[in-house]
Amino acid sequence: MADFLRSPNPTRARISLESWRHNLARLKAAAPTSKMMAVIKANAYGHGALQAARTLDAAEAFSVARLAEGLELREGGIAKPVVLMEGVFSGEELSLAMDHELDFVVHADYQLDLLEHYERTIVSKNVRPTPRVVWLKLDTGMSRLGFQLGQASSAAQRLRALGLVGELRVMTHLACADDTDSPMTTEQLRLFDAELRGLEPSKTALANSAGILAVPAAHRDWVRAGIALYGGSPIVGRTAESLGLKPVMTLSTQVIALRWIPAGVSVGYGATWRATRTTRIATLAAGYADGFPRHLPNGTPVLIAGRRVPLVGRVSMDMITVDVTDLPELAIGAEAVLWGEGLPVDEIAAAAGTISYELLCGVSRRVAFDYV
Ligand SMILES: *Cc1c(COP(=O)(O)O)cnc(C)c1O
Repeated sequence: MADFLRSPNPTRARISLESWRHNLARLKAAAPTSKMMAVIKANAYGHGALQAARTLDAAEAFSVARLAEGLELREGGIAKPVVLMEGVFSGEELSLAMDHELDFVVHADYQLDLLEHYERTIVSKNVRPTPRVVWLKLDTGMSRLGFQLGQASSAAQRLRALGLVGELRVMTHLACADDTDSPMTTEQLRLFDAELRGLEPSKTALANSAGILAVPAAHRDWVRAGIALYGGSPIVGRTAESLGLKPVMTLSTQVIALRWIPAGVSVGYGATWRATRTTRIATLAAGYADGFPRHLPNGTPVLIAGRRVPLVGRVSMDMITVDVTDLPELAIGAEAVLWGEGLPVDEIAAAAGTISYELLCGVSRRVAFDYV
């Protein structure tokens, strides 16, 4: 029997390189006059940052949140432009970013201070690092990172005075592009354009995945695609399929135990589900330690042999239980898809009260990855 189990790890994330490239092509076609920055922060939303960079080589640049993520790409031999979207947090980080030819966002005064201090140091040592592309970030309503409107032109002046700034670009981030009814996106575009007049950047960028697919006015010189690259829908009320996106990660596991229980018997911790008929229960080798959320409710679909069967009982650390009464042929070793091909991650995310981003990022290191 055990021969049917994928030893040593029945719980796997299969990453479809073809679907990954398809999604990139789909997004490039949606914003044909813009250059594409593939957002591969957080280990490429849980898919593997180095594999992402190697697979998505049609993107003109990559972006990550933090320095360590950028260094991982450089250590892995990725030579393309890489942008640190939170910028650098210390002189040491700036020095590493310069040494590894990473570009970065500047969103706050303390980062201007770091750059000016670094510039004085290199001038005094008579070294000349390669000047970087710097993205000046404007806060047009997200209230998270970026210079307030009215403060950006003095920030731009300080940046232009530095030899280490080879090119000055300007960006902002949209708060509500996923909601096509929200008036906020238009307002952010208006504020961005008004502020740009005083800045004269070489290039600009605003759009995330939702902006790429739903807000043509936000397609500027560059676009920044994240979730849609991975096949998650970025737009509320739209399925990924209807947007021409394909799932990249298929998270699957296997049946490791089967039993019949009589009506009235409960399943799992807390006895939160009880059989109302003679029921066949399959135990699957995946749980919250693999990144399958514990608070998923009874009835959440799991795909076995192309059929949806309901989750019953609480998600445990290493296992879940599903009602397979309607699949009489089922045997130990059968594969069960938790999300991916045939079962959109957006649907499981909705059942968990969250978004696909969180599920994808949350796949744990215990899961084995297969790139096919
Ligand atoms: C994460 C991120 C993106 C990508 O957003 P998606 O919604 O995943 O497309 C774009 N820009 C910035 C600044 C980000 O932090």
